[in-house]
Amino acid sequence: MKTNYIFAAVVVFSTIVTSCNFKSDHKPSASNDYLLAATLFQQTAAEKRALSYQAYNIAKQKLDNELKKSRLTKKLAVVVDIDETVLDNSPFEAKSILENTDYPTYWNEWCEKASAKPIAGSLEFLNYAKSQGVEVFYITNRKDHLMNCTLENLQKYNFPFADTTHLLMRTKDSNKEPRREKVESNHEIVLLIGDNLGDFLHDFDGRSSNYRYNLTDSLQYEFGNRFIMLPNPMYGTWMNVLVENNPDLSKEEKIKLLKEFLISF
Ligand SMILES: [Mg+2]
Repeated sequence: MKTNYIFAAVVVFSTIVTSCNFKSDHKPSASNDYLLAATLFQQTAAEKRALSYQAYNIAKQKLDNELKKSRLTKKLAVVVDIDETVLDNSPFEAKSILENTDYPTYWNEWCEKASAKPIAGSLEFLNYAKSQGVEVFYITNRKDHLMNCTLENLQKYNFPFADTTHLLMRTKDSNKEPRREKVESNHEIVLLIGDNLGDFLHDFDGRSSNYRYNLTDSLQYEFGNRFIMLPNPMYGTWMNVLVENNPDLSKEEKIKLLKEFLISF
């Protein structure tokens, strides 16, 4: 009889241990750990900082070339995206990894802190543009209700033209083309700077990875000329299009699907 009690206790204990192990084994597969390398690259890699400087150094050279050309009537403008182009939101990404949360959780809270730091080289370049009589327009897909805290963040670091005239927030959709056209009605846009190809052309938005590759190849000579690209491995249309037809996927399913795009040997 006593042996039976001991056996039963062992079975119950084993079940509890197995159950606990299952939970701890299960959690990592559903976590945001797959964003770890990308976020650490943004936050710690000097290579990332060098790429940002490189982008803005090229932007300055291109702007200087444009300034030498004679112009007719329109004022010159530079159009920049905000997130991961002039402001660094990697702390939001870090929070999402540590708390295992997903956008939009914590996004408003992060933006309202108005404490995103400038991307390396951006502040110097945009103030240089201003010093040369070139206006800066910020076209962002941050939603309209985040305008005040976004302005506060830009003003905190002395970004030029950080005012309601030069900050064009997302309104009904993420297409930036109508906002670019609005700027073009009074200005000649000499440079577009962004971390997402939709910051340059709407045709990139929501397209398949293959389509975006081919369109990029057809525009090869625009990059480092009129289009200046910043790196962002953390998020973007490039990743959204890989899972776009499956918006209701669980995190495990999403990671499984993403792995299907890996090119191995
Ligand atoms: Mg961006």
